[in-house]
Parts: sequence; C-alpha cells; structure tokens
Amino acid sequence: MQIGVLGGGFQGCCLALALAERGNHVSLFDKNTHLISRAGFANEGKIHLGYMYANDPSLQTAAIMARGALAFEPFIKRFLSSDSKAFETSSPAAYVVHRESQRAPEEVAAYLGNAHDLIVQHADGKTPQYFGQNLKEPPRRWSHSQRESEFDGSIAVDAYDTCEVAINPLAMAKGIQNCVLSHPRIEVHLNSEIQTAEDGKSSITIIGTRNGRRFTEQFDHAVNALWDGRLAVDQAYGLPISHRWIHRLKYGVSLSLPRNAAMPRSATFVSGPFGEVVSYPRGQIYLTWYPVCLREMTKAVKPPDWPNIAEEPLRNQILSDTISQMAEFILALRELRPEMLPEAIVKGGAIVAVGETDIYDPKSELHNRYEIGITSHNRYHSIDPGKLTMAPYFAQQLADQISSI
Ligand SMILES: Cc1cc2nc3c(=O)[nH]c(=O)nc-3n(C[C@H](O)[C@H](O)[C@H](O)COP(=O)(O)OP(=O)(O)OC[C@H]3O[C@@H](n4cnc5c(N)ncnc54)[C@H](O)[C@@H]3O)c2cc1C
Repeated sequence: MQIGVLGGGFQGCCLALALAERGNHVSLFDKNTHLISRAGFANEGKIHLGYMYANDPSLQTAAIMARGALAFEPFIKRFLSSDSKAFETSSPAAYVVHRESQRAPEEVAAYLGNAHDLIVQHADGKTPQYFGQNLKEPPRRWSHSQRESEFDGSIAVDAYDTCEVAINPLAMAKGIQNCVLSHPRIEVHLNSEIQTAEDGKSSITIIGTRNGRRFTEQFDHAVNALWDGRLAVDQAYGLPISHRWIHRLKYGVSLSLPRNAAMPRSATFVSGPFGEVVSYPRGQIYLTWYPVCLREMTKAVKPPDWPNIAEEPLRNQILSDTISQMAEFILALRELRPEMLPEAIVKGGAIVAVGETDIYDPKSELHNRYEIGITSHNRYHSIDPGKLTMAPYFAQQLADQISSI
C-alpha cells in the first residue's frame, strides 16, 4: 500500500518506520527543512512510566503511559543499534513532593505504589525492557537525612526513588531521522505544508503547498501526525473537534555543568505546576520550572509557529529565573550562575492537550493524558501521541491496523 504520513516529527517518523517495516511504501511530509525539528527534539525526554500523574487517581493515565514506556525501547531497538547514543539515559528520577503539592504526601505515596503495581501488571511476567532498569523494584522512600542532603527539606517534604529515566531527545531524533532518510521504502518530502485531505472512492488525496505552489497526492491511506498542526488539518478534512484543546508553549534549559560543579539528582517535583531536573552523563543537565518556563497558552485550533529555541533576552530571563527559583530548594544548584553557562540552550515547544484551565487548577484536565491515540475515518487517520513516550506504541498500533485492512 501507499501511505501518506503528514508530519515528520517523532510520531510521524516512528509511524513511517513501522509502516515500511510491514512492506508499505510511505511518503512522509513536513513543512520544515528537516525531520524531527519541533517538539520531537525540544522535549525533556522522560519516558513516562506513569509516576507523574498523581492528579489522575483513576490511574487511566498511568496505565496508558506504562504501555507506551514498555513499548518504547523494544521498538527503537529494531531500528537503531544498541550502541547508539539514543539509548543513553539520565539517572533515574526521584519523585519529590513539593510543600505546595496539590496532593498530600500520603496520597502521592499511595499513587506511586498503585502506578508501580500497574507497571508490573503490564510487564505481565515477562522481563520488561526499559533501559536496563529493574521495574520490579517499587518506589523507595528517602530518609529524612537523605532528603535534607539534596534539598531544602521544608520545601521538598517527601521523596521516593523510582526507576524512571529520560532519553536524550537530540540523540534519539538524530538516530531515528537518519534511519528514516536511508529507508528504501520511505520517501521524504520537506518544505511541504499540508492544508487538508479529501476522501475519494478508493483513495485519499492530500492537499498542500510546496515552495508557495499547491500540490496534491493520492494514497491508499493518509495519517495526520502533525502535533500542533493536527487539529487544523483534522478540521479542514471534516472531523469534528470534539474537545476543548489547549496549546501551551513551554521551555526548558539544557546545560553542561562547569567543571567541579555539584551534580544535582534527577528529580521530578509533584504534584502541580512544578518541574524537574534531569541529570545525564558527563555533567549534562536539563531544568524546567513551570512558573518560569510556561510562556504562552492558546485555545486556537492552530497555535502560532512558536520558536523552539528562545533567543535573547528571553533566553537569559528563562535561564536566570529557572536557576534561581529551583536553587531555592535544590542545594546542588546554589553555586550555579547564568554567566557561567554561555552555552546553555533554552529550548521548548508546543504541548497539545485537552483542557479548560491551566495546571494551577488541581481539577484541570491537563493533569490527565489518557484521551489520546488514534482516530480513524475511512482512509484518514489522526494520531494524538499525547507524549513522546507514546509515539512508538501508537505507531505500531496504527501500522498493524492499516496493514490488516
Ligand atoms: C518542553 C516540552 C517537554 C516535553 N517533555 C516530554 C517528556 O519528557 N516526555 C514525553 O513523553 N513527552 C514530552 N513532551 C511532549 C512531546 O514532545 C510530544 O508529545 C511529541 O514530541 C509530539 O509528537 P511529535 O514529535 O511528532 O511532534 P513534532 O516534533 O512537533 O512533529 C510534528 C511535525 O509536524 C510538522 N507540521 C505541523 N503542521 C504541519 C503542516 N500543516 N504541514 C506539514 N508539516 C506540519 C512540524 O514541522 C513537525 O515536524 C514535551 C513537550 C515539550 C514541548
């Protein structure tokens, strides 16, 4: 079959590989000049096991994230060699309860235990592949003195070790992009902006512009994997936009610690508008703090083309404020000064999710991420990955669905 995949982000690339692996011929379209140039490279790289979502005690988000996380590494291993830098991970994250958490420490503790049980359940007796971590190990509570040695214990009021890691999204993007570009059954069309798709009797036509000129192409199936461009094309095709969606622009800081600087622990602060520190090998860290790093929000069907790299003066503002606000309670960050970090990069992108209010509201739907996945109508399919974590899982699911038609 000939399949048109719209959007050459991480989701579109995973899908193209999964379809080509099943013998299909894929045309992959993206409006930019190279693949995985937006949220797919500018994210934090956490491969979510579900521990983050204590504000969804229904465990529906935890269940879907566990499925996605357990599918991630086995999928990528089919395309990249195991010595690829794409498999290098951060140290495992501690989950730390912030003093202003929307969930009490005992609720977070119970949630982490329940999420862990789900992960074990999803592993289903098999030895799960998750970046060499032992997923059977339940979250382990830190002692008071351990907490005090890393954080201001009056702000970090409880903490648990988990085995959740982050990949390096840049290395992953590079590996997958090269694999797509060299695949004999995938044709890549860059500088190609998609406007809509139209059903035919036995095919589907996609319509777009390339270098200012309109083009059309016909396929057996077309898949919308456009992330922040997805709703506009779904709407133009005729799918009802059934939910209230929010597009948010969020940044994070990637930096290399100066020699002899203290290395902070990977830690995720829950539950609410907080953030995390992700510690990679060789002194690389990623910091994000929601009150500083969340810069824009819109309910428009199509958000603006937000820049993925923050330029000055925004870069320095985010860098300085993130460090100073996180250093209030992360001891290892206290000696760090923005002027020591001329190479720090502030990168980010759109987060697309169903919701009406921001996450300062404990009841916001943005605390959930389970209404995601595939919508199909005739030969048109639309994927909302919800998270980078879920992209390989949904790629396989849709490739199986299309290949079985
Ligand atoms: C700051 C930040 C941190 C995040 N952290 C994590 C995390 O730790 N873990 C996690 O699991 N997820 C995380 N996410 C979410 C994750 O990045 C996204 O869920 C995922 O990357 C989205 O899929 P994608 O990679 O295909 O999107 P994109 O990379 O944005 O791909 C969409 C592609 O479509 C193209 N496009 C859009 N419109 C059109 C059009 N009309 N025509 C042609 N091309 C078009 C774009 O150019 C782009 O290449 C984070 C997101 C952000 C912004």
